[in-house]
Amino acid sequence: MSIHEFERYPLTFGPSPVHPLARLTAHLGGAEVWAKREDCNSGLAFGGNKTRKLEYIVPDVLAQGADTLVSIGGYQSNHTRQVAAVAAHLGLKCRLVQEKWVDWDDPVNDKVGNILLSRIMGADARLDPHGFDIGIRTSWEDALREVEESGGKPYGIPAGASEHPLGGMGFANWAYEVVQQEEELGVFFDTVVVCTVTGSTHAGMIAGFAALEDAGGRPRRVLGIDASATIDKTRDQVRRIAQHTADLIGLGRSLRDDEVTVLEGWAGDLYGIPVESTVDAIRLSGRLEGMIIDPVYEGKSMAGLVDLVTSGEIARDSTALYAHLGGQPALNAYSGMFD
Ligand SMILES: *Cc1c(COP(=O)(O)O)cnc(C)c1O
Repeated sequence: MSIHEFERYPLTFGPSPVHPLARLTAHLGGAEVWAKREDCNSGLAFGGNKTRKLEYIVPDVLAQGADTLVSIGGYQSNHTRQVAAVAAHLGLKCRLVQEKWVDWDDPVNDKVGNILLSRIMGADARLDPHGFDIGIRTSWEDALREVEESGGKPYGIPAGASEHPLGGMGFANWAYEVVQQEEELGVFFDTVVVCTVTGSTHAGMIAGFAALEDAGGRPRRVLGIDASATIDKTRDQVRRIAQHTADLIGLGRSLRDDEVTVLEGWAGDLYGIPVESTVDAIRLSGRLEGMIIDPVYEGKSMAGLVDLVTSGEIARDSTALYAHLGGQPALNAYSGMFD
């Protein structure tokens, strides 16, 4: 099946904006750095990368006649906030398991930012003491059962929508969107840099760009920057979802090892805990570009991009695309960082 035959329920405003980061580029002394802005992609509660994934999942939700979306993430999950927004938009109920993924000592960490927005949108967001894990959780399965037992018709969306069979589709399609925008803008992105944790964003891109390359497109690198600090799990998950998504869109071959690159070095020791390079990257993109990034994900991938350009690993005469995946609401839960 070709990617264009998959049903996509529109939740975004259309292609997300792509623009050069001129002052960051000048500061780094090349490569030429651009951004593609998933943080500006929709009218649903500040958008982000999960909204694009959900465009391919909603047709299945509607086909199954579900009345409640059930999902899971950390207290400051961007994913659950986007699920809550989509539920509101569709007139569905929403039950969220918010686990204590991050031991961050901010008194309002479980009250402001993403979880606040989810509650405003009517989601039943309940706290759960379990720690960080990107896999399938019993707490999520329990929530599904509870909805069922109370007479509802639940539809389960796992953490980051990654373990969902269609979880990689949104960003496989993103690759096609990038190629279209490259043609319009007269630019080619040699390297794409993307944050990866639950894996289906990076995995989808890998599958999409592999299919485009096999169809005669120019080769490029898609570098995942790990922000999970559980690198082996994330690498396995990216590879598995990338291959699954590639199979769905008819790639018809195994992905090569060099197509699945998850780099470590910027996550620090723990998911959700910013390190010095994270904070530096947040200040840098704020001060040079007025572009706001968060301490959990994008601050870490931006720190990676800065180092890769500075070290010449991303060549000075090349062009790089930074995938900004959203996530700014979580900043409110980290206010102490910038006192
Ligand atoms: C979820 C998320 C990511 C990571 O995407 P995965 O598909 O889970 O790997 C990166 N950045 C932000 C802002 C996110 O919300």
